[in-house]
Amino acid sequence: MTEHHRWEPYIPARTRLRVIEASCCEAFILAYEEGDFFVWRHAAAGRFEQTARGPYRLAFLAWMALITTHPKHNREVTPEHLATAPQA
Ligand SMILES: [Zn+2]
Repeated sequence: MTEHHRWEPYIPARTRLRVIEASCCEAFILAYEEGDFFVWRHAAAGRFEQTARGPYRLAFLAWMALITTHPKHNREVTPEHLATAPQA
């Protein structure tokens, strides 16, 4: 399976990041910023990471790969979700 989600440091653009879809516990956010789509995540205290910026199709592939391996992605918050959720 092709790796669609290499994480790199998130460098904020001047425009506001727009959330398209968030995973159940907000571990992964499908986002849009300045004409590019990518998956965004909270990596560690105050640090954020993103997948490569690009067209929706590529960001969506990364999103699907992450979401399908995410434990029990559904509307319910379980202990597994909390274990993988970003730490505030
Ligand atoms: Zn979750």
